[in-house]
Amino acid sequence: MARVLVTGGLGFIGSAFIRQLASGDEVVNLDALTYAAQPGALEGLSDARYQFVKGDIADEALVARLLHDFRPDVLVNFAAESHVDRSISGPSAFAHTNIQGTLNLLECCRAWLGQEGEHGFRFLQVSTDEVYGDLGQAGRPAVEGDAWRPSSPYAASKAAADHLADAWHRTYGFPVMVSHCTNNYGPWQHPEKLIPLVIQRGLRHEPIPVYGSGNQVRDWIHVDDHVRALMCLVTKGRLGEHYNIGARQPVRNLDLVRMICSLLDQLCAENCPAGGHETLITHVEDRKGHDWRYELHGEKITALGWRPQVPLADGLRETVRFYVGRFGDG
Ligand code: NAD
Repeated sequence: MARVLVTGGLGFIGSAFIRQLASGDEVVNLDALTYAAQPGALEGLSDARYQFVKGDIADEALVARLLHDFRPDVLVNFAAESHVDRSISGPSAFAHTNIQGTLNLLECCRAWLGQEGEHGFRFLQVSTDEVYGDLGQAGRPAVEGDAWRPSSPYAASKAAADHLADAWHRTYGFPVMVSHCTNNYGPWQHPEKLIPLVIQRGLRHEPIPVYGSGNQVRDWIHVDDHVRALMCLVTKGRLGEHYNIGARQPVRNLDLVRMICSLLDQLCAENCPAGGHETLITHVEDRKGHDWRYELHGEKITALGWRPQVPLADGLRETVRFYVGRFGDG
């Protein structure tokens, strides 16, 4: 990599990506600084090769100017509205950023490449396993090329953007690839997401909500493993292709919450509720349209040499430790 335009780089995964970039890379980070942005995640990044630009990926004039001035070799699009619950109560923002914003990025890049000429530019659209929809209890893990059956407005908006990326490749020969990753965990996730939410509630001795039975299954990958997979795709991925990224660590939501409670018991022994943090678990009404299970086969990316490195037990312990430090012990 050399000149990297990152969008949504103040979010959970985009900021981890920027932290991992080689010191020789030049980075422009375009982020709208929505409620989800975590400026603290890049605090102390004093590299002269890093530049932050506040703005919307759907802003045509801004994106066109950035491309013209910065002339990136790579664009990695992390910018998104990403919380499923918010997409259910207010889907319009998801259509704006996830669909209109991605369309604007594709179109601005296409226009810029038309003037600039082909020079090895690559666009990586960061998508999700949620586009495949619910696998049910018995369905096999999703493989690239399976039909998409998104359930939530969030997943539908991501699938729409992925269709646009495919169409831009097929129709215009646009140099794009798409990644589909499973649930990420690690530092600097917004506290509305499951893992930091459970930790925050646990530290305050407040009820820890679990949707429905808690038997829904998700595959959890450490954010640094996801980032390493994206780095691998940027250098070795084939344009026009989709790549699944999974850790093959499927866990029931309830079991994950119990693991976090047990870590809180150990790490915060002096601030432990009677009977342990598990006593705070409270089953609440299930999310509308809640998918039962997501899981992926990711042989295409493992064939490129990438493997997940962080076992869930180790990554989760480090993650709980991070949030205990961040939210305070109480
Ligand atoms: P996030 O919500 O933590 O961060 C999103 C970032 O995008 C924020 O910094 C926000 O300010 C910025 N943003 C939002 N709208 C914008 C706009 N219109 N213009 C510019 N910036 C804007 O999200 P995340 O968890 O880091 O996810 C990043 C990407 O990875 C998303 O596309 C998401 O669909 C995908 N993904 C996430 C997960 C996960 O578990 N978090 C799993 C698979 C895929």
